[in-house]
Amino acid sequence: MANWENIKDSLFAAGRDVSQKAKEVSEVAKLKMDIHAKEDFVEKQFAILGRAYYEVKKDNVSAEEEEQFAVIKEALDEIERMNQQMLDIQGVVVCPNCGKKVPADNCYCSACGAKLDDVVVDAEVVSEEPVTEDTVEPPVEEHTEE
Ligand SMILES: [Zn+2]
Repeated sequence: MANWENIKDSLFAAGRDVSQKAKEVSEVAKLKMDIHAKEDFVEKQFAILGRAYYEVKKDNVSAEEEEQFAVIKEALDEIERMNQQMLDIQGVVVCPNCGKKVPADNCYCSACGAKLDDVVVDAEVVSEEPVTEDTVEPPVEEHTEE
């Protein structure tokens, strides 16, 4: 006849092993997630650093970096070209003021009211505030008790 105390002890030990294993598994899973998140973070920081480096050096590239810079420049130009192609197909322009897409035949941005006529002009955009608001709200004055 089996000793009940022994059986109970071994069952208890087995249960403890299982919960110990489960604990290890979940700790490892959590660590994996944390590692992954940190790796993502580092990759983003590298990307930020790389972009800053690119912006600083692009007009004065050394011979050994010339090819890498050229590859990036080419890809950026391609993106720009495809973006423009997409806008042309959609018949929209991007508002230079707010970045919203608005119909290409609009004179003013339907989102922010900025003038769209001079979008294609290369010269610096003179910030000319268009008066398009029909209802001008009176400025809220703060009353200070004297
Ligand atoms: Zn706008």
